[in-house]
Amino acid sequence: MQLSEDIRSKIIEAVNAGFDDQIAFTRELVAFPSQRGAEHAVQDHIFRQMRQRGYAMERFEMDRAALESHPGGGAWSDTHSSAPIVVGIHRPREEMGRSLILQAHVDVVPEGPHAMWERAPYAGEIDGDWMYGRGAADMKAGAAANLFALDALRRIGLQPAATVYIQSVVEEESTGNGALMTHLRGYRADAALIPEPEDEELVRANIGVLWFRIEVSGLPVHVSDMGTGSNAIDAAWRVIGELRALEAEWNARAKDDPHFGDDPHPLNLNIGKIEGGDWASSVPCWCAVDCRIAILPGMDAHEAAREIEGRIAAFTRADSYLANNPPKVIFNGFRAQGYVLEPGSDAEAVLAKAHREAIGKPLNLRTARAYLDARVYALYDRIPALCYGPTGKNVHGYNECVSLPSVRRITAAMALFIAEWCGVESIET
Ligand SMILES: [Zn+2]
Repeated sequence: MQLSEDIRSKIIEAVNAGFDDQIAFTRELVAFPSQRGAEHAVQDHIFRQMRQRGYAMERFEMDRAALESHPGGGAWSDTHSSAPIVVGIHRPREEMGRSLILQAHVDVVPEGPHAMWERAPYAGEIDGDWMYGRGAADMKAGAAANLFALDALRRIGLQPAATVYIQSVVEEESTGNGALMTHLRGYRADAALIPEPEDEELVRANIGVLWFRIEVSGLPVHVSDMGTGSNAIDAAWRVIGELRALEAEWNARAKDDPHFGDDPHPLNLNIGKIEGGDWASSVPCWCAVDCRIAILPGMDAHEAAREIEGRIAAFTRADSYLANNPPKVIFNGFRAQGYVLEPGSDAEAVLAKAHREAIGKPLNLRTARAYLDARVYALYDRIPALCYGPTGKNVHGYNECVSLPSVRRITAAMALFIAEWCGVESIET
């Protein structure tokens, strides 16, 4: 649907008119310390906010069996969230346009030692153009933008002339199972938009991610007889060395990738967490290492998992201690394939136009080296999945923050995108 100039400028004005409320709402979201497993309260808050706006609401649990039998399902573990998925549904009076999924995740990663933050991590303090807090950029600003882009239309008496599903999910930082659960529940639309902090750019290609844990056992003896024991931490260290070699090989292969070929190191292995041993004077009998590694789009995540297992098994056979005490490799989170947003879609064209109009610049494209839920919609719904959102800083680090002028700009672009993609109708009075 072509929108008149008049309506387009009214939509932008309406986003501006609601922006103080949008900032306040974003701040409320940041105040929930919604780390993995602790997203129940923020999901209830979002549920109430959407219900107040008159959306038809659904709230549902993760279906472990269905997730585990899907090729894109992340592995279950003790720390898997049990928080519900929340979906608000806008149904038009008359279905005229193209339907849309607006998605955001509410889970955040641990904030680390508070002493390293200049501001309380869940206060949502504003300093100049920036709002600070864990999750401010990744991605509570986006979660708020989904609602306020639609509110802007409503403020001028309009609503989308097609079904819109507003999906609030969890587990984006660990398995991607929240987004996958919306797919398994049966939600489908003609396009999806996820306002992750992408610096006002659109993600063209995204890597896949695997999580795994390596458990090594040792032989405990008094350190005075160290030669007769075996040190699990030393052994784990050797396995990590082999994984670094694998990482280097995968990055060398990535030189031929059409999207990541120019990136000097697109596939990062992170040794994210390590624990082991019980006593400074005892040779440690256990060590566990949590790892995250990236794979190129197009590579099957299960095949990648087999390659990692095979590599560790081969290394183990050649190691005099590990050969008789092979480490366990446990896949305990993401088993997610990357995706490519195929160029030339109408959804991309409509977003590019909306972006140009709201922001006054052409829409740039980027590649993303972190897991994105957009993969679910791209790979399994097979629809254009647009990952596009505001400028943020220090995501997953200290002093995470989001640029408020940027949030305003992308919300205007989103509102224009929604209006043109879905079409608009007047709200029934
Ligand atoms: Zn995110």
